[in-house]
Amino acid sequence: MAARGVRLSIQGLGKRYGKQEAVRGISLDVAAGEIVGLLGPNGAGKTTTLECILGLRRPDAGTISVCGIDALKAPRQAHARIGVVLQQTGLPDKITPREALAQFARLYGAHQDGEVLLARFGLLEKADGLYETLSGGQKQRLALALAFAGNPAVLLLDEAAAGLDVGMRRALHDDMRAMRAEGRALLIATHDMSEAMELCDRIAVLHRGRIVAEGAPDAVIGAHTSLEDAILALTGTALADSGR
Ligand code: ATP
Repeated sequence: MAARGVRLSIQGLGKRYGKQEAVRGISLDVAAGEIVGLLGPNGAGKTTTLECILGLRRPDAGTISVCGIDALKAPRQAHARIGVVLQQTGLPDKITPREALAQFARLYGAHQDGEVLLARFGLLEKADGLYETLSGGQKQRLALALAFAGNPAVLLLDEAAAGLDVGMRRALHDDMRAMRAEGRALLIATHDMSEAMELCDRIAVLHRGRIVAEGAPDAVIGAHTSLEDAILALTGTALADSGR
């Protein structure tokens, strides 16, 4: 049973691709009003974890619960509570933000008014501009608006701010903080240590499919100046502990 306030609970998650063990027994909870960072280098297993939560991959082991709903047994109900933003969102070049939001509402039911979303995510000026003319930051804010349209309790973001300039990144981070203040649970996958430090209440450092450290960003990352440094220090311990 999920602890009080927990919106996303992953227990003992495992996923292999052939002989490759991408995720090895990850357990992690995200509570309402919390931003948790899944921080790790390329290939650590971040995307695989998110894909398992989203039902895009079938885990080999473990359980996933979303708002108390078993995501493996009742995927449709569980996934209806999740909004997702990937590193790049593939929308048709010729669609406009207003049309995309209207189409989403038709397909998935309108939980949030399109005009309100356009205003909230700073897209009114570009509401009728073609998708291909939006900047990278505007595309990501549209992706967030679409993820938000279904009024999700849980938001998953995979490297959502990667490649954005400082201003757009700040705007996206402000959007995420606003969602946290509304009591939503956010899990963000990133390999950007500064993003994890400035945004997350808690981070889990992932290395070769395992969580090697978890806690407040300051406590976990501490004095390390780069993710490589932190991983080196942390995995030395973890490797010895696991006997590998
Ligand atoms: P990145 O930051 O580069 O996106 P990640 O932390 O998201 O990395 P994953 O994409 O989950 O990591 O990959 C974890 C491991 O699983 C890697 O070793 C990767 O090569 C492997 N992997 C991922 N997808 C597949 C697949 N479809 N088939 C085989 N191996 C895969």
